[in-house]
Amino acid sequence: MQNNKPEKSVIIVGGGWAGLTCATELVRLGYKITLLESARQLGGRARRIAFDDQSVDNGQHIFIGAYRETFSLLKSLNISLTNTLDRRPLNLLFQYCGGKKFNLRLPALITPLNLFVGLLSAKGFSMKDKMRALVFGLKLFSNSLFQENDISVSELLNKERQTENNIKALWEPLCLASLNTPIDEASARVFVRVLHDTFCRSQKDADMIIPKVDLGILLPDPASDFIEQHGGTIHLSKRVTSININQRHITDVSCDNETFKADHVVLALPPHACLPLIKDHPALHDIAYNLNSFSYNPIVTAYVKYPASVRPNQPIQAMLGTTSQWVISRDVAGQPGLIAVVISGPGPHMQLDNEQLEVTIKSELANCFPHWPQADSIKIIREKRATYSCRVGIDLLRPDNKTRINGLWLAGDYTKTFYPATIESAVLSGKHTAEQINLT
Ligand SMILES: Cc1cc2nc3c(=O)[nH]c(=O)nc-3n(C[C@H](O)[C@H](O)[C@H](O)COP(=O)(O)OP(=O)(O)OC[C@H]3O[C@@H](n4cnc5c(N)ncnc54)[C@H](O)[C@@H]3O)c2cc1C
Repeated sequence: MQNNKPEKSVIIVGGGWAGLTCATELVRLGYKITLLESARQLGGRARRIAFDDQSVDNGQHIFIGAYRETFSLLKSLNISLTNTLDRRPLNLLFQYCGGKKFNLRLPALITPLNLFVGLLSAKGFSMKDKMRALVFGLKLFSNSLFQENDISVSELLNKERQTENNIKALWEPLCLASLNTPIDEASARVFVRVLHDTFCRSQKDADMIIPKVDLGILLPDPASDFIEQHGGTIHLSKRVTSININQRHITDVSCDNETFKADHVVLALPPHACLPLIKDHPALHDIAYNLNSFSYNPIVTAYVKYPASVRPNQPIQAMLGTTSQWVISRDVAGQPGLIAVVISGPGPHMQLDNEQLEVTIKSELANCFPHWPQADSIKIIREKRATYSCRVGIDLLRPDNKTRINGLWLAGDYTKTFYPATIESAVLSGKHTAEQINLT
């Protein structure tokens, strides 16, 4: 849908999913876009990398059915969701190595019946566990778990009298997977919002989704084609080193000795990359102060290559009591035998070097899946600042997209979307920013 407004120019700094969404929406509206990305490729924290002769991602990404804005963006680029995403009803298996198993499956019933029946028929939990989880689910559905004053997820779970099984085999792994923050620090406000939007809106929102293609094919490739076909320009390896402001108006941005001018500038960067660009401008001091208070958590992904005969029945399973947390089969991505092991959040594993971590992961897999043959090779990817820490009170630090400087906007998963650092939050922020620019 083209605008009738005179063509305006927008510089987007950062070619992650937030920047790409914003650029896509704006070229569609007829804006002249220049996207500046410091890396040699687009995608940011959700990008493709090579492992031997295969394409994988810098970290195994899982989507859920509630990623409505992400799916709508992909559809708008004519990307077939069926061809690119493996989507299944929620079926979570949590297991202690060689020991107790817990299984939560949601039946094909309307919400919230699916959650209640799923909780009552979950395997491995006692009747007391189930009743406590059910009461929690009822409160979630009736919105009575929303926290006016934020507390930690562990405080919330204790307040709601969740049993040890429920905490260890359900809420803790879900919190770490969705907020990448340990339950003692994680924001209950954000966690409750995630659970609510996953389990209390529509049955399909709880679906578990694994991309069948690498993340580059999913968005950066089609989005960059779309942007360029609509007259936009993308510059890779262009690091923006300063933004220039004149009397509360953004004028241009500089990359070493080159300057780019535009009517609007969107900084689609993580807080730590945004901070040096805004911190010296008095009108942006309050935002800079908040961005300086963000902290970050790592995610480690180990891609472990087995013979192609290793094809777990369950594409996603959680390991309990081990360093390895999630075991995801890349079979759905046409890579039989390739297993992604994910370790979210901080922990003693970050003190291990890659060789030690490889030994730990391989021996945990050998213990938990004794019928698998020996692994052929392994690649470890550490993203030290994978996400901001979604800790208690985080909502108060998250900035709006609009700033006090005319024409200067902020986008990115950390802005005020109220979701944790996820693809959906990045896409939502990019879309909202484009909509607000179009209203000016
Ligand atoms: C290992 C890992 C696993 C994850 N798993 C999941 C998951 O399962 N599900 C999920 O939903 N989310 C997951 N996430 C989170 C998700 O990837 C991020 O929330 C999302 O990609 C953030 O996008 P963004 O555009 O906000 O920021 P970014 O991706 O950080 O994009 C910012 C871009 O700006 C560029 N840049 C930085 N400084 C400059 C500069 N000065 N000039 C120009 N360009 C600059 C960067 O190179 C980058 O490309 C995971 C993240 C990681 C790292």
